[in-house]
Amino acid sequence: MSEEVKTVEEAPPPPPMGIDDEPFAELEAIVGSKYITKSPTICQAYTGRGYGREAFWYQGMTTRPCCVCLPASTEEVSRIVKLCNRYDIPYTAGSTYWAVAASCMFRGDIVMIDLKRLDTLEIDEKNMYVKIGPSIIYSQLQAELMKRDLYIYMPGGGGQPSVVSNQMFQGQGILNYRICAWPERRFNGANWVNPEGEVIRCGIFMDREDHAAYGQAPGPDLFGIFKGNTAWWGTMGTLTEIATKVYPFQPERMIPDGLGRDAALDLPPRVQYQNYTLTTEEALQGAMQELYREQICGALNRVPMFWRDIAKAGSRQEFWDLWSKVTEQDTANTHIIRVLFIGYTSQKQLDYEMKVAEDIIVKKYGGTARRTKQTDDGTFLYSIVTGMWKPTGFYASSCVGFESTRCTLTLNDQQVEALNKEPYNSVFFEQHKEHPWYAPFNLGRVMYSEFMAYLDCEKIDPANSKFDMNHVGGLLTFLHSEIPMRVIQTGYSNLFGNGHINSKTELGPASHNYHEWVWKLKAEFDPKDVCRKGLGDHMDVVIQSAPQVLTEEYKAVRDNLASRGWKDAEI
Ligand SMILES: Cc1cc2nc3c(=O)[nH]c(=O)nc-3n(C[C@H](O)[C@H](O)[C@H](O)COP(=O)(O)OP(=O)(O)OC[C@H]3O[C@@H](n4cnc5c(N)ncnc54)[C@H](O)[C@@H]3O)c2cc1C
Repeated sequence: MSEEVKTVEEAPPPPPMGIDDEPFAELEAIVGSKYITKSPTICQAYTGRGYGREAFWYQGMTTRPCCVCLPASTEEVSRIVKLCNRYDIPYTAGSTYWAVAASCMFRGDIVMIDLKRLDTLEIDEKNMYVKIGPSIIYSQLQAELMKRDLYIYMPGGGGQPSVVSNQMFQGQGILNYRICAWPERRFNGANWVNPEGEVIRCGIFMDREDHAAYGQAPGPDLFGIFKGNTAWWGTMGTLTEIATKVYPFQPERMIPDGLGRDAALDLPPRVQYQNYTLTTEEALQGAMQELYREQICGALNRVPMFWRDIAKAGSRQEFWDLWSKVTEQDTANTHIIRVLFIGYTSQKQLDYEMKVAEDIIVKKYGGTARRTKQTDDGTFLYSIVTGMWKPTGFYASSCVGFESTRCTLTLNDQQVEALNKEPYNSVFFEQHKEHPWYAPFNLGRVMYSEFMAYLDCEKIDPANSKFDMNHVGGLLTFLHSEIPMRVIQTGYSNLFGNGHINSKTELGPASHNYHEWVWKLKAEFDPKDVCRKGLGDHMDVVIQSAPQVLTEEYKAVRDNLASRGWKDAEI
C-alpha cells in the first residue's frame, strides 16, 4: 500500500454533518416553521459564542449546529429531546450563550435548542422566591426585585446571563458573602427535562399550590443530580423553569446616573461602599477575618491594583499606559479591601456595622479609609458591565473556585510564582506579581478567588498575521499542566479551566477517579449519549491532540498522588 493511500485510510472519519429531512420536518412540526432554521448564516451565529471562544473557536473545536430551534414550553423541549433520542441525534441547549460551553463541538449534526422563548417571571414577595424561565437575565430580575425591597446574588461576570443557566453553570458572586454560595441550595424547585426527554417536576413544581418553603431535605436530592458538584453544563438535561430563593434588601431605590461607560447607580443611604488601605497583606487578611467573624457587612473583597487602573482608564490603551508604569514594588505594597455595607433592617444597623468595621480595620489593623465613590456599576445591576477584565481581548480566568482561606491563598501565591517563570512570562502579559482578588463567601466559611492570566488574543488566532504557535502552546501548558498541578497539590476545587470542564483522564487519577462515577451516572440518564455530546470529552481531545502540553513535572505530581494517595504523597 502506498504511503498516500495509507494516510487517507488511517485519517479519522469526517465529523457527521447536517440533519435529514425527516427529523427536521418533525422538529418543525413541534416548534412551528417560524422557530426553526437550517440557515448556515443563522446557525453560524451560534458557533463558538461566549467566553473561552478565543481559545476554542480559534483552534477549530466549536462547530456550527445543524439547525436551531426555539421551543416555547417545557412540553416542546421534552418533545424535541425525545425526538433526538429516537433518531439518535445529538442536541445541546443554551440560554444566553455567554459561555463557549453552550456551543456545539467537534461535529456538525447537533441540534441547538435555544431557550429564549421560555420567559416566565413570577415573583412571590411574601414567600421570597421567584419562578423564572431561562431567558430571564439577572439585571432584569434584580430591577424587578428591588422594586419590592428584595434582591438576589449577581454573578461576577455581569447582569446579562440567564439566571437559570448561570445557576446551572456556576452561580457565584460577591453577594454570596451573605447569600448561600451553592445555587442548588437556593432552589425551591425546577422543571427538568432529563436527557431522554422525560419531564421531572421537583420541589414546588410538584404541586403548584403552596410549597414555597421547599428547600433542602436531608441527604441527596434531585437538584444535586442535575446541578452536579461544579456543573454538568447542560450534559444532564435542560431546566425549563426554576424557583429560586430571593432575599430581603432595603427599601430605597438605586438611581441610574450618567451615560455610556460613565453610567452608574447612585447608592441609597442604607447602602455604602468603603475602601480601606492596609499596610501589609497579613493585616488585610486579619481584618477580613475579623469582619466575617463579627458577621457584619454585605460583602467584602480584596482589590488588586489592577482594578484601580481599569477604573481610571478611559480606553484599553489608556489602561496599558497606566499599568505598564506599575512596578513589582507597587503591587507588593498595595493592600486594599473593599467593604460593602447594607443597612438591611435600618440606618442604625448600617451605622453600627460601619463603626465596628472601623474599629477593626482602622484602629486594630492600622488601615486608612480611602475616598470611595458612592455609586455602583458592578455589584447589583451591572449597569455598564457587559464583560469584565478583558484588557487583552482574552478571557483570562485560568483558575476559579473556592476552598478554605488557607488553601485558596496558598494556591494564589503558587499561581503568581508560576506565571513569572518561563515559558509563561514571555507568553502572558506582565502582571507585576499582582495577587488576584479574593472574597469570603458564606460569612467566611469559604474563600473564593479567580486567577487571571492574560495573553494577546491576536497571537492565538490562526487567521491573524500575528499568530504565534508558542502562544497557543504556552496557554495550553499553563491551563493543562501548571494550574491542574497546583490544584491537585493543594486540593482546591477549580470550577473550570478557562471556562471548561477539566480533563477527566488527567485530573481524575489524582482525585480518586471521580470521573468514572460521574460518567457512569450520566450514562444511566443518557444511554444514547445525545445530550450535550462531546462536552465531557473535549479537554481530553485537546490533550490527546497535543500531549506535549503535559509537562514532566505535572505528570510526576499527578502519578505520585494517584499511586500514593493525597495524604501520603510527597507533594
Ligand atoms: C468575564 C466573565 C466573568 C464571569 N464571572 C462569573 C462569576 O463571577 N460568577 C458566575 O457565577 N458566573 C460568572 N461568569 C459566567 C456567566 O455569568 C455565565 O453564567 C456563563 O458564562 C454561562 O453563560 P450563560 O449563563 O449565558 O449560559 P449558556 O452559555 O447559555 O450555557 C452555559 C452552559 O449551561 C448549559 N445550559 C444553558 N441553559 C441551560 C438550561 N436551561 N438547563 C441546563 N443547562 C443549561 C449549556 O448547555 C452550557 O453548557 C462570568 C462570565 C464572564 C464572561
